[in-house]
Amino acid sequence: MCSSDLVMRIYISADIEGVTGVTHWEDTRLGHAEHAYAARQMTREVAAAAKAAFEMGATDVLVKDAHGSGRNLLLEELPERLRIHRGWDNSPYSMMAEVGSGFDAVLFVGYHSAGGADTNPLAHSFNSSKLERLQINGERASEFVFNYYLAARHGVPTLFLSGDEGLAKEARAFDDNIYSVGVKSAMGDSTLNVTPQKGAELIYDGVKLALTKKDIKPKYPESFDAVFTFRHHQDALRASYYPGVERLDEVSVRFVTNDVLELARTKMFIM
Ligand SMILES: [Zn+2]
Repeated sequence: MCSSDLVMRIYISADIEGVTGVTHWEDTRLGHAEHAYAARQMTREVAAAAKAAFEMGATDVLVKDAHGSGRNLLLEELPERLRIHRGWDNSPYSMMAEVGSGFDAVLFVGYHSAGGADTNPLAHSFNSSKLERLQINGERASEFVFNYYLAARHGVPTLFLSGDEGLAKEARAFDDNIYSVGVKSAMGDSTLNVTPQKGAELIYDGVKLALTKKDIKPKYPESFDAVFTFRHHQDALRASYYPGVERLDEVSVRFVTNDVLELARTKMFIM
C-alpha cells in the first residue's frame, strides 16, 4: 500500500482512568504521589500511539491531554514532532479541542467505561461528582461515544481506542471500524492488568493495524436525544433553566438536537 493512501493528520485524545494499572481515584489526581505512575504510563501509551502513527506516515499528530487539569503528560518523554494540547480551551469541544481543524482520524488512549457501567472501578461520564450517567438515543453514552460524535461532526472517523476491556468491547460494537485494545478488566474495586510495557506494545501494534484503514465514514445520527441523570436533584433543577432543557424527573433532564455541538454546549453550561 502506498503511503499517500493512508491517513496523514492524526488526533489523539488521552484520558487516564483507562490507562494500564490505574485503579483508584488517587492514581488520577495531579499532585498525589500515586499520580506519578499514572502520568508516566499515560505518557508511555500516548507515545506508543504517536510513534505508530508517525511510522504509518502521519505528518502531524496532536495529542489532547484530556484528564483533570489537562496537565498529566510528561512532555520531555513524548516523541519529537508530536504537538501537545495542555489545559482547557473553555470551548464545548473540551476533550476534543481543535479536532475540527482538518484531522483525518481520531485515536482514543486511556479511555474508561461510562457512568453506570461496572467494568472499571473508576467508571464515570464527565464530571463524576455531578453526573450519574448520560444516555444518548436510549443508550448509555460514554465519554468516548460523545467525543466520537464531536469528531464525526467534522467527518473525522475514530479508528482506535485503548482503555478498559469493557469500553474496548463497547467501542468495537459501536463502530466496527474501530480497532480497540483492552489493557485491564475489572471486578468491584479491583483491576486485572497487563504490564505497563505490554500495555504500550498492544497500543503500538493496534494503532499500526488501525491506520491501515482508509475512506472510513463515521456514524452521525439524525438527532441526539440526550438524558443527563445527576447525582443530586438540585443540579437537575438548575439545569432545567437552560434553554431547550426539559426536566424529566427529580434527577434527570432531557435535551434534543440534531447538532452534537449544541449538545456539547448544553453539557458545558449545565454541569
Ligand atoms: Zn479522566
